Amino acid sequence: TNFTDLGLAEPILKALNAKGYATPTPIQIKAIPPVLEGRDLCGIAQTGTGKTAAFALPALDYFARHPKPTPIGGCRMLVLSPTRELAAQIAQSFRDYARFMRLSVETVFGGVPIGRQINKMRPGVDIVVATPGRLLDLIDQRALTLRDVEVFVLDEADQMLDLGFIHSLKRISQMLPKQRQTLFFSATMPKTIAELGDRFLTNPVKVAV
Ligand code: AMP
Repeated sequence: TNFTDLGLAEPILKALNAKGYATPTPIQIKAIPPVLEGRDLCGIAQTGTGKTAAFALPALDYFARHPKPTPIGGCRMLVLSPTRELAAQIAQSFRDYARFMRLSVETVFGGVPIGRQINKMRPGVDIVVATPGRLLDLIDQRALTLRDVEVFVLDEADQMLDLGFIHSLKRISQMLPKQRQTLFFSATMPKTIAELGDRFLTNPVKVAV
């Protein structure tokens, strides 16, 4: 299998070529087809397996095929990450894979002044990569709404729980539109994580690597 066989849109194939990726990794081969079909996904995968591209590439394909104006004060895709380092990495991956597309990508995380992040959200952002606490701060300050989210990714769910984000995740889940695609990833899937997944997912395809 190569990336062309997976049916990804031309600007994405071009970006992958520029990155020098020759073949998809196992998680990408398993996850990309159902996500392209619009299915929810529950993935067990560690960092280093290529899981970021497993959710970023089919999401970008959706945006390539369903172009829309950026929602003012909102976003079309929300990716939640437990740490700012991972959020920055994920955002960089999206920028790399979307380099031949016209999509805005911004990070939202704590430990830096909120003012600049508020200003960046104002016109709307296509793809927001956020940690839960600062995301809720922006929402509470009316700087961002989640009502336009079409694709929602929860990455490293087990880390989220370890870091005490469960209450924040529950609040965020209540603000997301019911009609959306959800992609849920965790390195491990004990009962508590699977139950958290059930809150977010509808009839998900399950993949593990
Ligand atoms: P991740 O598991 O998402 O943190 O990705 C691990 C590393 O693998 C990152 O540095 C990616 O840029 C890289 N990577 C992801 N997919 C591929 C691929 N299909 N071919 C080569 N490298 C990849």
